[in-house]
Amino acid sequence: MRGPLLNPKSNDYAQFDPETRRLLRATIDFFESYGKQRLLQADLDAEWVADFLEFQKKEKLFATFLTPAAYADGDENRRWDGARNAALSEIFGFYGLAYWYAEQVTILGLGPIWMSANEKAKTKAAQQLLDGEVMAFGLSEREHGADVYSTDMVLTPDADGQGFTASGTKYYIGNGNVAGMVSVFGRRSDIDGPEGYVFFTADSRHPNYKLIGNVVHGQMYVSTFELDGYPVTADDILHTGPEAFAAALNTVNVGKFNLCHGSIGMCTHSLYEAITHSNNRILYGNPVTDFSHVQGNFVDAYARLTAMKLFSDRAIDYFRSASRDDRRYLLFNPVTKSKVTSEGETVMTLLLDVVAAKGYEKNTYFHQANRFIGWLPRLEGTVHVNVAQILKFMPNYFFNPAEYVDIATRNDATDDAFFFAQGPVGGAGKVQFADWKAAYESFRDVANVGVFFRQAKALQSLLETAPPTAEQAKDLDFVLTIGHLFTLVVYGQLILEQAAATSLDLDVLNRIFDFQIRDFSGYAVSLYGKPSATSEQQEWALGAVRRPAADAESFDRVWQQVKVLDGAYVMPD
Ligand SMILES: Cc1cc2nc3c(=O)[nH]c(=O)nc-3n(C[C@H](O)[C@H](O)[C@H](O)COP(=O)(O)OP(=O)(O)OC[C@H]3O[C@@H](n4cnc5c(N)ncnc54)[C@H](O)[C@@H]3O)c2cc1C
Repeated sequence: MRGPLLNPKSNDYAQFDPETRRLLRATIDFFESYGKQRLLQADLDAEWVADFLEFQKKEKLFATFLTPAAYADGDENRRWDGARNAALSEIFGFYGLAYWYAEQVTILGLGPIWMSANEKAKTKAAQQLLDGEVMAFGLSEREHGADVYSTDMVLTPDADGQGFTASGTKYYIGNGNVAGMVSVFGRRSDIDGPEGYVFFTADSRHPNYKLIGNVVHGQMYVSTFELDGYPVTADDILHTGPEAFAAALNTVNVGKFNLCHGSIGMCTHSLYEAITHSNNRILYGNPVTDFSHVQGNFVDAYARLTAMKLFSDRAIDYFRSASRDDRRYLLFNPVTKSKVTSEGETVMTLLLDVVAAKGYEKNTYFHQANRFIGWLPRLEGTVHVNVAQILKFMPNYFFNPAEYVDIATRNDATDDAFFFAQGPVGGAGKVQFADWKAAYESFRDVANVGVFFRQAKALQSLLETAPPTAEQAKDLDFVLTIGHLFTLVVYGQLILEQAAATSLDLDVLNRIFDFQIRDFSGYAVSLYGKPSATSEQQEWALGAVRRPAADAESFDRVWQQVKVLDGAYVMPD
């Protein structure tokens, strides 16, 4: 792990260069000096994040973190660096989803710009970031949801053939109220199919850009806006044809990767509040934390949160080391998105069941995090869409491994130029992986890793002996259950790799695989109950249910690690 769970009192970000360290600390200090009351009131009042944007402008925070080196005029501090961006996302999540979201949609808005060959747009974006502006990503539409192919944002060519007039409405577009550059996805009126796609930039202050409103109530501005005869010149065009669609997907690859660290930050702050409350709450003469079920919830939440962080931190290394020849990140990124953010919801529910009424009090960060934790799995493609994507990698993952040079921890101050040069999309079924079993074998002596490893191997055999039939393969409800089982194996692999890299405490690792076994068993039972499951598959499913190895002493050692978090961090008023 890149250090233990975030604690604003002690995190020094020693792994980064001085300017990165300074800015991460300055961001923490901004929120700490803002104070808890002000922070929570801003949320309750649905106040736009203007103070924060003023801070980021003054510190050139987004300019420093979100400008690729090629557009940084030789300033070595400005670069796109996935490791420090993840650390920043975690801080934002720790203090509020609204701050995270203002940056997230700026990242998404910048994606199609940095991926384009439009030098004027790129130079303009770099300057706007220096001026403190934020960006937006205009892909979604009210009528079409995930079906982005069916866009009704239509570009009609001008009579002189030099530009277009764009008309149409976008929905769910963050920062659409203020963004200097809104990257908008649309299609030409005169060309059908993928050849007609266009990505272009619009200025939210232009008179033909009509802001209709915020579709949510909150600090986040999730806008709907209309382009009404908006003039699009050659300088505004970022991508055309299938490349425009690839830019949309490749941008989401970059963006979805930030969701996990946002979720981790939200859960971490909530864990501090939960344990500090519960450990000091006396019921029937004893602390609430004396209850065995309360300890159980805390240990499970702590193990799950630690796993979220282990997986996500390791995924950084794969993404930063990716190339056209190593596209393993295409599997790990949707796992960060769907699995890690879903685990965030599970962690919050475990904690909420303990703190109970306290979790709804308006003077807690918990209350806010609990309201928002479920947003993350539903942003940038739902869990379903991502698990469907994950499934495409399963055959090669299990049955067609390749040799790769080991990827080390990547905290180096390198510009991640590949993020914006991912190339054509597709070919998921061709991506190969190193042998997944290696990570499991090195920890097979940890009791629950050993049990889970047997479950994972059983899944591999199911795919050989009783794979989904042609009919079942068309039934998403059936195959998504297989997708969740497979996701657990991938999740476990990177957790183990990161556990090795960080010398994780083996008791904690054992607890992580305790829930991995239980979750695998749960999905196996779900598969058993599917109407179309064959008798062989049913037999397999029941046979795959396993019991974690019980170890009361190991459990207690982990509980002590959670208990000492009582008072470890309290946000100043
Ligand atoms: C708070 C918030 C902020 C957002 N910000 C932005 C933004 O800044 N820019 C932007 O462009 N968009 C944004 N979005 C939109 C977001 O990306 C969409 O919500 C998301 O893509 C899903 O669309 P939908 O919610 O309309 O669901 P729908 O597409 O209507 O999906 C309905 C159901 O069908 C399932 N489904 C759909 N397609 C598939 C498939 N291929 N495989 C399996 N299941 C499928 C879904 O899982 C879901 O259960 C935001 C959304 C929210 C909630």
